[in-house]
Amino acid sequence: MAGYREATPDQAQYLDELVEAGLLIPSGVPGVYGRGTTFEDIRTRFDDHVSRAAAFEGAESLRFPPVLPRRQLEASGYLKSFPHLTGVVYAFEGSEIQAQEQARLACDHEDWSEHQHMSDLVLMPAVCYPVYPAIARRGPLPAGGVIIDPGASYAFRREPSGDPARLQMFHMRELVRIAEPDTVQAWRDGWRDRALELLRGLGLDARFDVASDPFFGRSGRMMAASQREQELKFEILAPIAGPEPTAIASFNYHQEHFGALHGITTATGETAHTACLGFGQERIVLALLKTHGLDPAGWPAEVRDALWRA
Ligand code: ATP
Ligand code: ZN
Ligand code: MG
Repeated sequence: MAGYREATPDQAQYLDELVEAGLLIPSGVPGVYGRGTTFEDIRTRFDDHVSRAAAFEGAESLRFPPVLPRRQLEASGYLKSFPHLTGVVYAFEGSEIQAQEQARLACDHEDWSEHQHMSDLVLMPAVCYPVYPAIARRGPLPAGGVIIDPGASYAFRREPSGDPARLQMFHMRELVRIAEPDTVQAWRDGWRDRALELLRGLGLDARFDVASDPFFGRSGRMMAASQREQELKFEILAPIAGPEPTAIASFNYHQEHFGALHGITTATGETAHTACLGFGQERIVLALLKTHGLDPAGWPAEVRDALWRA
């Protein structure tokens, strides 16, 4: 399979344990799993925990489906940076005869792609994408900008792997800040510290570091270096199934990228800056299970209290 990343022995063993315990349900495709009751309970409890931590800000909740208009992704430059991760929705638009031919090929597991056409949808690569055009539609921002909570939703990335921490479909819990540059940067830095505290409070051996996105190709390596140099992206890392700690949350300052792209202006008419943070929910559940054991009934009382309190 193109781009498939082999699991290390530790990652493969952890995946086996998770499946054995009914926490993850294999689909036969690497990086695509169902989740058992316990896994999903931990994930949604963690989501509530973040919501409680965010409540003081009075963020506005908006929800979007996990597909994006293809034109929006095209305009964002995503295909230049991450051609290898993009998932596109294809659909059938042919005649009855072509439908029969397609069905025959599909039943025989042969190549039926010639009958498929690119639709106007792509799979959501990150949960904040629909927020920017939605806010742009409202006209200039109110003074002080906005904080938007797009909740936890599925994101797709075509990065098949045997590592249970590298999924093709996973939940990202985001928060988005749109405002003047200083406000946005202070918000991002404040949340980086708050999130670190929150994750350490759950007993995770978490630390933060400057990071870069996995931009594609040689020019991508230059983009990643410049992103690091400007400290546009931070990650919080924690041990899962190694060998290195894994990114469980990210904090991104986009400068005026999305503001300029969608025409978002501040109350005083400047192009708005944006930042977002994303908790990788499955990775956080996997880190908790790795740290405290596969049965949450035996977790330390302070972790249980934090997640399971009313
Ligand atoms: P990585 O370097 O590990 O690929 P990323 O830089 O691509 O991560 P972001 O784009 O910042 O990650 O996504 C936000 C969060 O979503 C990450 O901090 C991580 O916790 C989670 N995440 C990203 N990719 C995956 C994946 N393939 N499977 C599970 N969680 C993921
Ligand atoms: Zn985002
Ligand atoms: Mg990635």
